[in-house]
Amino acid sequence: MRENTFGPIPGSTILGGISGRRAIVMAANIRIATVAQGIFRAAKDTDSAVFMELARSECDLNGGYTGFTPGTFSEKMHEAARAAEFDIWALHADHISIKTGSPLEIEGTKQLIDAQIAAGYTSFAIDASHLFNFEGKNVREELEKNIVATTDLAHHIKNRMNGKEFGLEVEVGEIGRKDGQGLILTKPEEAVAFIQALQENSVFPQVIAIANGSTHGHVYDEAGNIVEQLSIDIPQTQAVAKALRDNHLHVGIAQHGITGTPRDLINQHFPKGDIIKGNVGTFWQDVVFTTLKVYEPALYKEIRDWTLGKYLPLNPGKKEKQVFDGNCKMAIKEFFKQIYSVDEETEQAIRAMAYAESLVFFRAFSSYGTASLVRNAMKK
Ligand SMILES: [Zn+2]
Repeated sequence: MRENTFGPIPGSTILGGISGRRAIVMAANIRIATVAQGIFRAAKDTDSAVFMELARSECDLNGGYTGFTPGTFSEKMHEAARAAEFDIWALHADHISIKTGSPLEIEGTKQLIDAQIAAGYTSFAIDASHLFNFEGKNVREELEKNIVATTDLAHHIKNRMNGKEFGLEVEVGEIGRKDGQGLILTKPEEAVAFIQALQENSVFPQVIAIANGSTHGHVYDEAGNIVEQLSIDIPQTQAVAKALRDNHLHVGIAQHGITGTPRDLINQHFPKGDIIKGNVGTFWQDVVFTTLKVYEPALYKEIRDWTLGKYLPLNPGKKEKQVFDGNCKMAIKEFFKQIYSVDEETEQAIRAMAYAESLVFFRAFSSYGTASLVRNAMKK
């Protein structure tokens, strides 16, 4: 048996362990590590499996915009899991993004992956969805560059993991991309062609991110106020999942950009089991900033002044509120020391709020009990 040091387990073990269940595993983007212990405690108390993740933009060899490198992020997540004594979690590299597919970019990406593996990551999301060829004559041609880049990087991960199991997520259809008509959605045949091509190349992801109407971060009205996100196209998502199933591809859907989607709607209407992984990012940042606003008003004001000073001039015509909400993430690295040296009372409030909000997510995702499912699958 594995000695329990509360380290992360392969993402594939978690997603495989809940296979066939109507449940979604929450993947939390931990831009500010203070929320992690609250999330892990809630996971433990509700027996919910969980992913802890950061995207390349958030965390890279230079610290991304959160100030974390793969090494320091991993350390913080290990610490939080140990403090909560929680065992069923994966350390996931969200959006390992490829924008051009140039040899230089691929090389830099492999260096990032090597650092993630050295830091003990157990799951990876390759995102080459930008490499869409609009001139392609058929689906396969449209996706060719994405297929090539994803295959190359997936093989690199497999080599470097050296026989160790790992989770793999791939992406087709850039999330949030719009054309004249609105958000572009992934078609079932695109997802099927993409996965089939990857499998022909001996790449076997457990989960695929698609464009299905969500956007990353907040959604705003014309006055710049944050509003609920009601744009996720559920029938389209179900159609993609069905097409994957009908073609015996055994790949579930990763729902990105959940922040702002009402949790009662998720609870009652999300196709759980079709969607198997649910990414929640900006929400956790909001938990921290709303707490700082009350507990650390001086620090909050500094962060606000810095963000507006830098980003108002870059966003002419936009309301202050929207400019702050959209760009306060860039202040995390800038105020790293201050954010991590607030009073214990502040930290306690952040952890407690993260705990309570996690309970609600786990309930809405039907993930109560999923940790035991995974534990039992591991014993077999
Ligand atoms: Zn995402």
